[in-house]
Amino acid sequence: MTFLSQRINNLSESQTIKMAKLGRELTAKGIDVINLSFGEPDFFTPEHVKEAAKKAIDENYSYYTPVSGYPELRKAIAEKLKNENDLTYNFDQIVVSTGAKQSLANAILCLVNPGEEVIVPTPYWVSYSEMIKLAEGETVFINATVENDFKITPAQLEAAITPKTKMFMFSSPCNPTGSVYSHEELAGLAAVFAKYPNIYIISDEIYEHINFVDKHASIAAFDEIKDRVIIINGFSKAYAMTGWRVGYMAANKAIADACDKLQGQITSGTSSISQRAALAAYQSGLESVTAMKDEFKKRRDIVYALLKEIPGIKVNLPDGAFYFFPEVKEYFGKSVNGQVINTAEDLSLYLLNEAHVSTVTGEAFGNEDCIRLSYAAAEDQLVKACSRIKEALSKLS
Ligand code: PMP
Ligand code: GLU
Repeated sequence: MTFLSQRINNLSESQTIKMAKLGRELTAKGIDVINLSFGEPDFFTPEHVKEAAKKAIDENYSYYTPVSGYPELRKAIAEKLKNENDLTYNFDQIVVSTGAKQSLANAILCLVNPGEEVIVPTPYWVSYSEMIKLAEGETVFINATVENDFKITPAQLEAAITPKTKMFMFSSPCNPTGSVYSHEELAGLAAVFAKYPNIYIISDEIYEHINFVDKHASIAAFDEIKDRVIIINGFSKAYAMTGWRVGYMAANKAIADACDKLQGQITSGTSSISQRAALAAYQSGLESVTAMKDEFKKRRDIVYALLKEIPGIKVNLPDGAFYFFPEVKEYFGKSVNGQVINTAEDLSLYLLNEAHVSTVTGEAFGNEDCIRLSYAAAEDQLVKACSRIKEALSKLS
């Protein structure tokens, strides 16, 4: 539409949000759709967090908040980074936002100039490439494949660096693959960054607590590059608080101040009630987080076993987050009743309409051979979804 800005015309719609919307539309028509497209925990926010929000309302936490968040919350985040991650940040290096999504956009908009390159390993989380587009940066992809557990090597990283490289961004645990980088693997990447002092690193750690193998490792642990690392995290996943909209970044003070300035012109501080709830989340122990993680691990094992049984699907065992990213390209070119499946998007729509299971095409994450399944759903729903997928795929020939 010509009256809209080029900026918005060039932007793609979020596929995760689109598929969730399509799924909801079918549900509204009375169809029993199993939603495996949206990445949000199906658990309730812990009781003590909800209580803190109710109390905040009664205590009249109803005014504008400081742009970077209440100092108490920023201090609690700094303490969490020290206690859980052994990372030292002063509270004025923390900027609270309306979700990790906003923190990612803030960091990109504050650092990337038009034409500068941002290196992104594929598969990547759906919004990265679009945020870079908004900043008029150029995305340089590094392809990671299922054979390498969807992780990149230091040599691949170094080969992608050019004089125009401004930033590198990735998530670990990864959305959409569930891959988790170990401390040793991150050391390899950090050693490359140490040689290039003008490159900034966005480390999206929103799934840090949904990690089935190791203690969470952050690339900010390497002193020689820590000042150039921007940690992104939030409350959506660990505390099942997606709708509360609280995220944050931890970065060097100049970057934190820049993001404060940007937020001050766009959104101001996030909701007072949500911040009080987030504070309660960080002031309590990790009991609810651990219980949720254990449940996700159980589900991962169930879904992995079921997906392995489906012919033509190649799948790795994810070490974290709550997604599978199976390769489905063996089905491309196959058809049923004259309907040909040529792409991952065709397959994802076929599964929605035929099996009533909503997934997301891998194209949205920079990989055309795969689809993403979220296993943030009840066990019986997951079992039913896998059986429906298997049956629908068996009709393709
Ligand atoms: N990063 C990744 C990798 C995600 O999957 C998501 C989706 N929740 C976000 C950031 C954004 O999270 P938030 O709800 O805090 O905006
Ligand atoms: N992060 C979740 C996902 O990947 C939620 C959707 C979104 O924020 O785009 O599905």
